[in-house]
Amino acid sequence: MKDKNNERIEILGDNHFSKNTETPLRADAFDKPDDEKIKNIQYHFEMIMKEMGLDLTDDSLSGTPYRVAKMYIKELFYGLNPANRPKLSTFENKYGYQKMLVEQNITIDSACEHHFLPIVGHANVAYIPKDKVIGLSKINRLVDYYAHRPQVQERLVLQICNDLQKVLGTEDVIVAVSAKHLCVSSRGIKDKNSFTTTLEYGGCFADKTYRDEFLTIIGQQSV
Ligand SMILES: [Zn+2]
Repeated sequence: MKDKNNERIEILGDNHFSKNTETPLRADAFDKPDDEKIKNIQYHFEMIMKEMGLDLTDDSLSGTPYRVAKMYIKELFYGLNPANRPKLSTFENKYGYQKMLVEQNITIDSACEHHFLPIVGHANVAYIPKDKVIGLSKINRLVDYYAHRPQVQERLVLQICNDLQKVLGTEDVIVAVSAKHLCVSSRGIKDKNSFTTTLEYGGCFADKTYRDEFLTIIGQQSV
């Protein structure tokens, strides 16, 4: 008999429903230390592999549950834990620079929360400084942090944009992400060429002139 809940999940398919900018986390998400989580995930991943009929006594497979567990907690999804958010110190805008600053071609290494498959691509981020400026690499680090969670691309740009607006003390921030989803290219429709672009902005970027300047710099057409 078909599980009613699984049936619902299949009907929803790849439609992305997101109610909130926040990543949905349990209240007790970080009560356990990482080591304990790794141990538990290792056990459960071993069960998955066994259920698939794999022989865990094989030399090549025996270390896989631990490697996957450690990779989930310490690498792919390190950005779930707010303790890992990069420290974003700002500096006084001494130069009085008031034009657009664009940080381009920032690597996106993420994973979709619906299939736990990679999302790979690039982010372009711009802001117009008011009183504060930020070290350039901090933008890359912030993008990396929010990307390293189970994500949907719509939420990813929102989270980066909201955080930067807060840190920089200005609404004049724009974030564009273009990325390939392996859940689209390797399963389901199996489209190898399509990619997805999401855009979030505030302040002066609501004005098409500013948005077009940004899009021209990053080499994409306005829509
Ligand atoms: Zn997916």
